[in-house]
Amino acid sequence: MGEGAKTKHKVIFYRDRCEENRVCEARCPKYWKFNEDKGKIHLKGMKEVKKKNPETGKMEGTNVFEIEIDRKDVKCNKDAAAGCPKNAIEVKPIK
Ligand code: SF4
Repeated sequence: MGEGAKTKHKVIFYRDRCEENRVCEARCPKYWKFNEDKGKIHLKGMKEVKKKNPETGKMEGTNVFEIEIDRKDVKCNKDAAAGCPKNAIEVKPIK
């Protein structure tokens, strides 16, 4: 199946790679916004991906964040991803 009008997409934000240069905010302000108080870029609605630590058995944060977006918002986020010099943003269809 191709990327039809209803295909959901996922935006993945790899926080560790980010250098807070706000390029994504300039390209896709609907989703990316710099938080002046925290000094960090924020992806609207993002949730941290958790993984189980095999040693402790506990779920732990990964500093990777995700959201689901509609097809109409793919271009904006792909523009942000293309402009990110740190390769910290990925946009891909949800299978
Ligand atoms: S463009 Fe990339 S490096 Fe710059 S603030 Fe956005 S995610 Fe971070």
